[in-house]
Amino acid sequence: MRRLEAGYARTARLDSLILMTAGIVHLVGAGPGDLGLVTLRAKALIASADVVVYDYLVHADMLAWCRSDCEKVYVGKRPQLHALPQAEIEALLVAKAKAGRRVVRLKGGDPFVFGRGGEEVRRLAADGVAFEVVPGVTAALAAGAYAGIPLTQRNTSSSLIFLTGHEDPEKHTLAVDWHTYGALANATLAIYMGMGHLRQILAELMAGGLAPATPAAVVEWASLGRQRSVTGTAATLADLVDARRLGAPAMILVGEVVGGHEAIDWFEQLPLFGRRVVVTRARDQAGELRRKLEELGAEVLELPLVEIKPVVDRDTTLEVFAELGHYDWLVFTSANGVRHFFDLLLKAFRDLRALGPMRIACVGEATAQAVRALHLEVEICPPTATAEALADALVATGSLDNGKVLVVMGNLNRDTLVMKLETARAIVDCLQVYENVRTDLSHDPAAEDFCQRGGDAILFASASAVQAFAAQAGVLALGAGAKRPLAGSIGPRTSAAMRQAGLRVDFEATAATLDALVAALVAKLAGG
Ligand code: SAH
Repeated sequence: MRRLEAGYARTARLDSLILMTAGIVHLVGAGPGDLGLVTLRAKALIASADVVVYDYLVHADMLAWCRSDCEKVYVGKRPQLHALPQAEIEALLVAKAKAGRRVVRLKGGDPFVFGRGGEEVRRLAADGVAFEVVPGVTAALAAGAYAGIPLTQRNTSSSLIFLTGHEDPEKHTLAVDWHTYGALANATLAIYMGMGHLRQILAELMAGGLAPATPAAVVEWASLGRQRSVTGTAATLADLVDARRLGAPAMILVGEVVGGHEAIDWFEQLPLFGRRVVVTRARDQAGELRRKLEELGAEVLELPLVEIKPVVDRDTTLEVFAELGHYDWLVFTSANGVRHFFDLLLKAFRDLRALGPMRIACVGEATAQAVRALHLEVEICPPTATAEALADALVATGSLDNGKVLVVMGNLNRDTLVMKLETARAIVDCLQVYENVRTDLSHDPAAEDFCQRGGDAILFASASAVQAFAAQAGVLALGAGAKRPLAGSIGPRTSAAMRQAGLRVDFEATAATLDALVAALVAKLAGG
């Protein structure tokens, strides 16, 4: 009987892996939080899954990798708050896989380290469901790396022990005999889920023989912009943690390796570490700015105020594309315009050479960068990122009289540009390729988070984001305890929109690029 079952499971696995007909469950480690610490395998599986079943400690932005038709099931697990009991989670995985779905069961850290992953795969095996396990960076490793605490060290620390303080009442694990671990020499202890009993755990370790002067640390939200850490000794740590009010999720690290970590805590020394920065770009553009800020240690909150939607006006597009070879100038006013224009062009012609020999002009360095990324030369991109400056620069070329100009745009008003070009006797065609649409923030978790906590700074990278922010001011009103952020702008046009909306401009980028915006932020927060 057992052999038969094993045989069935093998066949199901082969079907799942080779024929891709039967369902399968991929038990996947989501790492400690930072999106960059997810394995390539995990990302690929999330991106192709039919169903993703995820926990509290999984970073919400990972879900953006899912297919748009992927079913996402949150099964909770905050301390004291269980969205779905373990047996039901397991039943759900079995049912979805048996219905032929490819399921990703996503767990914080590593699925086989204090995550009940073992129970889940045993149930899958017992029910003949094919599965795969993808390891992840477990919290202890992340806490060590991001707090400057090497977990082992020649001469002082020759073993590393993962322990659970099992603050989770549902985890009826064996009680840890702390006395035994306190008696160990040359060990590093990494204690998961111990914050609820920190004082007691340290007392028992010391009662077992741990020297009270042994260095010890707590690292909360390791690897994320909101990471906080406290270091002291076995004797002092609990008081220090109380004073700073650190709580779960946090890793407790005990051992000589904690000593002297100040010299090597590279992450907490980053210029934006401990700073909370609110980003107000459209959702599909926010990634790059977010990455730049996170690389400098910031905690980033994205307010998805505007969404960029492609627009295709068939008739105009056909007319313009029929004339492509006759334009003298092609003008882009935004990177979105570049992206959506070339999407359309390549859909229609499949070959970049269809563009013809026209010259290219751009408003703003970010726009020019998007063009150059396609290995196309940008002839004009004035240092001031305004439509007026671009029009002046084009007029100055002396090539507009009777010249044909194609202006690629969104739905926002570019009348000034067109008017100025026409005054210089150019023949101007406009092609709208996208529109900015305001997002409804009334039930958005990011908006709620903003209202409750505010931030150190809020960044505006376009006038349209400012207008969308102002239009949703009601939903975005800061609560009593929230920190009022400094407001920064990417350039004069955005600053003007901010002032018009009644927002103070606390700092402005010296050039209209994301790098310059980030540099202005760093300087401002450093007191510059
Ligand atoms: N499977 C997970 C552990 C789950 S148990 C892993 O391998 O990491 C949950 C505990 O993990 C938390 O109580 C906390 O002790 C720890 N933890 C998870 N993420 C953490 C993080 N980003 N920083 C610090 N501790 C974390």
